[in-house]
Amino acid sequence: MRRAAALALVVLGAVSCGAGQPASVPDTVPDTVTDTVTDTVPAPASTTSAPDDQALEESPATPSSTGPPAFSSKVSRVSRDRLPYSWRPGCPVHYRDLRLVTLSYWGFDGKPHTGELVVRATVTGDIEKVFKKLYDWRWPIRQMKLVDAYKADDFDSIDADNTSAFNCRRATGSSNWSNHAYGEAIDINPRENPYVTASGSTAHQNAKKFTERPISGKGVVNPGDKVVKAFAKVGWEWGGYWSGAKDYQHFSKGGG
Ligand SMILES: [Zn+2]
Repeated sequence: MRRAAALALVVLGAVSCGAGQPASVPDTVPDTVTDTVTDTVPAPASTTSAPDDQALEESPATPSSTGPPAFSSKVSRVSRDRLPYSWRPGCPVHYRDLRLVTLSYWGFDGKPHTGELVVRATVTGDIEKVFKKLYDWRWPIRQMKLVDAYKADDFDSIDADNTSAFNCRRATGSSNWSNHAYGEAIDINPRENPYVTASGSTAHQNAKKFTERPISGKGVVNPGDKVVKAFAKVGWEWGGYWSGAKDYQHFSKGGG
């Protein structure tokens, strides 16, 4: 709430946001000021964070008077209370070895937003590289929240078309840990890019028109796409290339 009040002040009074946060208020497009400011200020750190929950590295957005802010990303330690549903003792990676990546993405509404992903500490650089490209291409993403917003329910997160990464769960149809449980996999626009069985069906009613490839559409990943190539460049493979069932939303470090 404190952050919301501060933002309101920025918008209404055009005063500095303070605390070193870049506030981009383009003079030329006054009707988008509210959304631009609200959506591009990096998400606040949790007020209940552990003392060691400080930024490990940061590349802040560069305010611009001629366009949207540049891509920004921040890698932070993630406290246990940010993962109330997605992590528990016994998971294959300890939460201390996970990181919260707060980054810019381009929305389905044609505006910049700030999202959050949790991934393994060893792969934050991969994620930042890929998402900088997606942002620069204005490649649209519906939304990006931790799966804890859906109580770590994979079905609900997918149904909401939520892009997310870490989730301590088993692989679909298997007793083995998913790569998501290692924080080394991400699902992108899962409605537009469903998991499709070998017989061509999806469990999600709202994804039925997206089961074929290639297809055109906002946020759709097709074979050979620049999105697939961007992930491949950092060693992440696409589930759309699997034989049998296809997982068009899924990218993982080293495949699987
Ligand atoms: Zn996945």
